[in-house]
Amino acid sequence: MLMNAPYQDASLTVAERVADLVGRMTLEEKVGQMMQLNAQGGVEDLVLNLHVGSILHTSPERVRQAHELTAQTRLRIPLLIADDCIHGHSFWEGATIFPTQLGMAASWDADLLERAARATAVEVAATGIHWTFSPVLCIARDLRWGRVSESFGEDPFLIGELSSAMVRGYQGDGLSDPTAILATAKHFAGYSETQGGRDATEADISRRKLRSWFLPPFERVAREGCRTFMLGYQSMDGVPITINDWLLNDVLRGEWGYEGTLITDWDNVGRMVWEQHIQPDYAHASAAAVRAGNDMVMTTPGFFEGAQEAVRDGLLDEAALDAAVGRILTLKFELGLFEDPRHPSVERQTEVIGSAEHAELNLEVARRSLVLLTNDGTLPLAASTRTIAVVGPNADDQHTQLGDWAGASGQADWMPDGHPREMTQTVLDGFRRHVPEGWTVTHARGAEILTLGVDPEGEYFPDGQPRPQVVFPATPDESLIAQAVEAAAAADVVVAVVGDRIELVGEGRSTATLELVGGQVALLDALAATGKPLVVVVIASKPLVLPPSATNAAAIIWAANPGMLGGQAIAELVLGRIEPSGRLPISFAEHVGQLPVFYNQLPGQHGTRYADLTQRVPFAFGEGLSYTTVDYADLRVLEPVLGIGDTVRAQVTLHNTGDRPSRETVQVYVRDTVTSVTWAIKELKTYRQVDVAPGERVVVDLELPVADCTLVDAGGRRIVEPGQFELLVGPSSRDEALLRAGFLVTGTSA
Ligand code: BGC
Repeated sequence: MLMNAPYQDASLTVAERVADLVGRMTLEEKVGQMMQLNAQGGVEDLVLNLHVGSILHTSPERVRQAHELTAQTRLRIPLLIADDCIHGHSFWEGATIFPTQLGMAASWDADLLERAARATAVEVAATGIHWTFSPVLCIARDLRWGRVSESFGEDPFLIGELSSAMVRGYQGDGLSDPTAILATAKHFAGYSETQGGRDATEADISRRKLRSWFLPPFERVAREGCRTFMLGYQSMDGVPITINDWLLNDVLRGEWGYEGTLITDWDNVGRMVWEQHIQPDYAHASAAAVRAGNDMVMTTPGFFEGAQEAVRDGLLDEAALDAAVGRILTLKFELGLFEDPRHPSVERQTEVIGSAEHAELNLEVARRSLVLLTNDGTLPLAASTRTIAVVGPNADDQHTQLGDWAGASGQADWMPDGHPREMTQTVLDGFRRHVPEGWTVTHARGAEILTLGVDPEGEYFPDGQPRPQVVFPATPDESLIAQAVEAAAAADVVVAVVGDRIELVGEGRSTATLELVGGQVALLDALAATGKPLVVVVIASKPLVLPPSATNAAAIIWAANPGMLGGQAIAELVLGRIEPSGRLPISFAEHVGQLPVFYNQLPGQHGTRYADLTQRVPFAFGEGLSYTTVDYADLRVLEPVLGIGDTVRAQVTLHNTGDRPSRETVQVYVRDTVTSVTWAIKELKTYRQVDVAPGERVVVDLELPVADCTLVDAGGRRIVEPGQFELLVGPSSRDEALLRAGFLVTGTSA
């Protein structure tokens, strides 16, 4: 063991320590340092023989073991331990599980999300894990994609606001803060632009399209100091992102000056050999990945031999390895891991994991994530209500309520049963615990959603990863429906909880359809036929197509995957203990054939509808009801002639005409009336959340820098084109909901 080597001297600069340490490392150790391997197969070989720099998917037991093994290595380089702690410390039993990213996005509240990420970091840091693979900055434009629930929805501005907040929350007061964890901006970039919604397909996307919509959120967090970026799986123009020199070097490291760490996604390097067939072997693939500037190579065991062979055969200059290793070591030094490897602390865990304080925050996030889509006045329930029938397959489903990347969602092998059941309040629990005294809650399942079977193509993918089982929709079960109908008939109101299930969500689980699967439509039809007031709660990872028995029901609440306390929040909303304030971060379709339905599409088509269907969406980006009505009036731009360096200042008056308070999300869109290229008819540019008391009139001040009123021109430059603009202000992206006022920008393009 080395003692007192310069790299162990905390009084030296990070650069000096890195240079000393890299100089001592063998080729094997350098290659190992660039590797992150899956700890689920055991950690001993990874740490002692492969010299890995990082591990992921680590059970509590293996975190402890990995830290101990590191102490036995020659240079004692601390490990970076990583996991997908993406809406809470996903795979730590008993941690706080928040609503999914899409659910959190419905709050439109950056400060709230920063607090949720902070709480997650505090829990994660106590467990010896240093790095979370969150947030996801992908734009969700095809609702069939299996990973919509991991996104912040469809709008680049909202994605930027919320991602920036989560990065701040994770990284805390900087890396020397013992409760800070590394954030990851993923999946860089364009991964969500799938074909047919199929996960990880080639993305048909131009550089200009990337710059227009996909890159801005990434640019923002790169400039704000997000320490790591993860590369997507897809290729663009035939080039996998892993070796996309333009995107990684010209744009990310060049234009944006990003100095952080790049990590590939799962076996991106191997995929170039066995999936994409663009590299003949692991030596060539490894050389290409290192030359493109990747630092950490996730789960490509073949990189160990491949990269060494590449150096020996002259395919790769060892200096390129040194640069990558240097960036990884810099992170480790800046985290202070050589002085304090941040071992798990049982004492800290007892204090913070799943703490009452975090549960309180989680409840607040869950409440704010709920979106009231329709309401004929049945909600909040009348005080005269006595019996509520809580029915449906998602009324009492802990796992679906938590959503993907949580407990038993399939990525971790050490928590087959998921989080402790008592930590989650399902919708049924929520009603049972929170109805007023004397009310009765009854329950019937009413329908099954699906069963699972082995994929006919085999149980495993070529890289040895298990294939998800295949979904077989359940057939409507008359006896289950009869029980639900009986419960409905005996109740004053029916709350039917439907949606999707964890097996219909996630990587490799895109869906061809968006309808409610299995016996659910038959159940809703039968419940509607009872004539009882029907409240439909949709617990679903993404916008689904809802049948007429839902859209004609008394009310619909979309709850995404609302986390551990979602059931309580839903009960409170239905009972009128809280106000609905969520707004859709993503549009719903009326039919899967309407896709794409995102609001900021480019103009230009013959007509405005399909021959056999309208293009109007049932629920649009930004929509969501309150238990009151708020009128928007008197939009005024205070100085309508402005230069490029000025700020548009405007005012709008909100009037709460009902008898319940409302938290309004005042949305500000911009339209550039004549543009040098086709451009979106309107784009969200800013928004403000404002509380308006019953009867109150509030004048809301709005500010928007003219410099934000940009487009991307034909040459790929983001500029403001002077001329006439329109400011569109209102409670949603619907044209008919927006007030309009013009302003003129003078000067020359900049
Ligand atoms: C996913 C990433 C995730 C990684 C590690 C990949 O398959 O695309 O989002 O962070 O696995 O679990």
